[in-house]
Amino acid sequence: MRLQSFGAACTVTGSMHLLTLDGGRRLLIDCGLFQGGEALEARNHEPYGFDPADLDAVILTHAHLDHVGRLPLLVNRGYRGPVYCTPPTAALAETVLLDSARLQVEGYRQELRRARRQAREHEVLPPLYDEEDVHRTLALLRPVLAFGQRSEVAGLRVTPGRAGHILGSAYLLLECSDGRLIMSGDLGNRESGLQPDFTAPPQADAVVLETTYANRRHRAWPETLAEFRDALRQSVRANGKILIPSFAIERSQTILHTLKNLMDSGEVPRIPVFLDSPMAARATRAYFEFGGELIPEVRDALHSGGDPFAPSTLHEVLTGDESQRLNRYDGPAIILAGNGMMTGGRIQHHLRHHLWKPGTSLIIVSYQSPLSLGGQIVAGAETVEIMGEDIAVRAQIHTIGGFSAHADQDDLLAFLETTGSPHVWLVHGEVPVMDAFVPELASRGLKGDIVPDRQEVNLLGGGFGRGARPGLALEVPHAGVREEAGE
Ligand SMILES: [Zn+2]
Repeated sequence: MRLQSFGAACTVTGSMHLLTLDGGRRLLIDCGLFQGGEALEARNHEPYGFDPADLDAVILTHAHLDHVGRLPLLVNRGYRGPVYCTPPTAALAETVLLDSARLQVEGYRQELRRARRQAREHEVLPPLYDEEDVHRTLALLRPVLAFGQRSEVAGLRVTPGRAGHILGSAYLLLECSDGRLIMSGDLGNRESGLQPDFTAPPQADAVVLETTYANRRHRAWPETLAEFRDALRQSVRANGKILIPSFAIERSQTILHTLKNLMDSGEVPRIPVFLDSPMAARATRAYFEFGGELIPEVRDALHSGGDPFAPSTLHEVLTGDESQRLNRYDGPAIILAGNGMMTGGRIQHHLRHHLWKPGTSLIIVSYQSPLSLGGQIVAGAETVEIMGEDIAVRAQIHTIGGFSAHADQDDLLAFLETTGSPHVWLVHGEVPVMDAFVPELASRGLKGDIVPDRQEVNLLGGGFGRGARPGLALEVPHAGVREEAGE
């Protein structure tokens, strides 16, 4: 079984792993978009190192954009075969890909207008795909993978396990005559709001492991909750707007559920909550539909007809006009809007209207890439540029780190334990993080190898394949995003 990674090798974004089996069958695990800055995003336009028409099947581990976002491009470039995933992943992928197509097309038009004024329209790259391409892609989805049940995919036995990362997320046990391999996908933080812990994986001969936070230990969940509650109370006392930038999938639902609990228990006053993200509202429908997958508390609430994602003061803001009207809303209120890193979306106009007011609070619950608007604010910028205007940062800034949906070092080591695998191939991590993790593995008697970018490795033979050498291609920029849409 050979692996060639065309994304999430020596970086955290753009997951795309090509498996070649004996007999030449070819399987693609995930087909994600590169995100997080121009250098990485330019890679989305590159040709693949293989012909999509030669693939026998695609399997998706979960619906984050950095795992599914290049799928319509794969179809544009000739792939017509099945795309296997769990049913919740299919539901979320529809929301994620349609939103991505809209952003692609809007971004292209905007860039073209700007380029025309400078007579350089020939330089503007066309959108990767549009809505029509997404619909052709969605028609290929086969949402038949069920946790713990073995399926046959292109002559390979595939058993998904619960990854506990976001709704529907799976790791994969792949079995063939060569041996048994586990592809981890993204693994969940065992201290998180909505997902049950990942299930212990079975025995395997090798593991391909994500390493986003392989050098970190997250704060315990009760501490994160207390930190969030205290930030909210302090913000309510400041009597201004409370802005929470949030990604539409999983993070928004986690924050809404946490707000509901804090308000129901009287720990935080019942002030209005505006969910200003139609995408998050759409994604929440999948959380209702597949509520049986969530932690017992949420499952039970849904079962008895409740809405665990709706604080009693929740208003869903749908149109852009309604969103603009919120600027004139008087009094304290919580506004949850995308995107999570503040690089675009409706959160930007809320920041433009409120960031300069001392009574405003900005509660950051997602990872912020250093170059993003959020990253600049976290780093203490006194002024930031928003929608072409310089805005003073006078709001109170609260950063809550513990809401991460990714496994930390302890989670990753716990995951490896039951596999009994002596060999771990590291993907989906930045090089310094993986470098720090290799000795941790060695101290437990495990061999850790960093999967090189775009070069083939022999997974079960324990060696490097056709002309590949470890440590090559490490010059790939690794200032990527860690979190969803991101994350
Ligand atoms: Zn993910």
